[in-house]
Amino acid sequence: MAQVSLNNIRKVYPNGYEAVEPISFNIADGEFVVLVGPSGCGKSTLLRMVAGLEDISEGALSIGDRNVNHVDPADRDIAMVFQNYALYPHMTVRKNIGYGLKNRKTPTADIEAKVQAAAKMLNLTEFLDRKPSQLSGGQRQRVAMGRAVVRDPALFLFDEPLSNLDAKLRHQMRIEIKALQRRLGVTSIYVTHDQVEAMTMADRIIVLNAGRIEQIGTPAEIYHRPASTFVASFMGAPPMNLINAQGRDGRVMVGEIAVTNNPVNGPVTMGIRPEDINIGADCEIPFTVDIVEELGAHRLLHGKLDGQDFTIHVAKDRVVSAGPIHMTINPAAVVLFDAETGLAL
Ligand code: ADP
Repeated sequence: MAQVSLNNIRKVYPNGYEAVEPISFNIADGEFVVLVGPSGCGKSTLLRMVAGLEDISEGALSIGDRNVNHVDPADRDIAMVFQNYALYPHMTVRKNIGYGLKNRKTPTADIEAKVQAAAKMLNLTEFLDRKPSQLSGGQRQRVAMGRAVVRDPALFLFDEPLSNLDAKLRHQMRIEIKALQRRLGVTSIYVTHDQVEAMTMADRIIVLNAGRIEQIGTPAEIYHRPASTFVASFMGAPPMNLINAQGRDGRVMVGEIAVTNNPVNGPVTMGIRPEDINIGADCEIPFTVDIVEELGAHRLLHGKLDGQDFTIHVAKDRVVSAGPIHMTINPAAVVLFDAETGLAL
């Protein structure tokens, strides 16, 4: 187990492309950190630099108390779990899980004990003599986890491990991986483009955009207090409503509607989550519902506010059809952003 520290880590590929601008953050011992961002934002590059699979152009990386910039991947005391599982097709589950240990000349009896323990933890005991081709996607993912677990590493690195699974299995594996990490207490860095995985698994989320950190925070901080319009629209499904507004006379106005009190002057972007809006006959803001999206547990009402796309989340017991309604925006939940830079005010 270990803390991890990245100090001004930068990556410039040989073709001159700067995939990661100088980035710094620390990960506490036992913490589960998720790097999330759209395709191409540099999250795999960052993870691969931590793993030692990619050179670090500038900056210092330490795992535990040791600077590992020039330490071989095999000597960094890490275990990596990939999207494609990287299992050996000709080997049984037992051999796949124990392979890394055998390579390290671990005594056979110890390997068998560790493989058995990992298999038990991952519900793989009855599949130990099967080949990967005889397993489901979820079971293969568990074998890949097992191989990481038996190494007893200081750090787990996950590179989009669930992308190949269907939605139901992803949900199940999310819970399994998180529970396993909790149980083992191994410091973990997990890369995904899926904001649901980030929200549900992370102790802390790092949102990346174009090789830069947009925000570091707990899932609740990222969700409720996004640092930028980028984070506000990337995290959450549906995303936060972002509406062009005007600060005037101590109030924030959307058209002629005052949504909150704030001394800001001039153009701002008003952010409000779809569930922070109430509807009812006694509400003061008129709104026309164009489309009702039925989602079982709740409904999404889509329409326009001051000519701009706007979505309201209502509980399943609020039966609404397309047409005029009234709503209120919870002023305490409003987040204001600079209209030009997109940064939270
Ligand atoms: P992500 O994992 O967030 O999708 P990557 O870290 O894979 O993003 O890539 C970040 C950026 O670096 C992308 O624009 C990608 O095209 C570029 N990139 C990745 N590998 C190389 C390479 N070997 N040479 C040049 N550019 C690369």
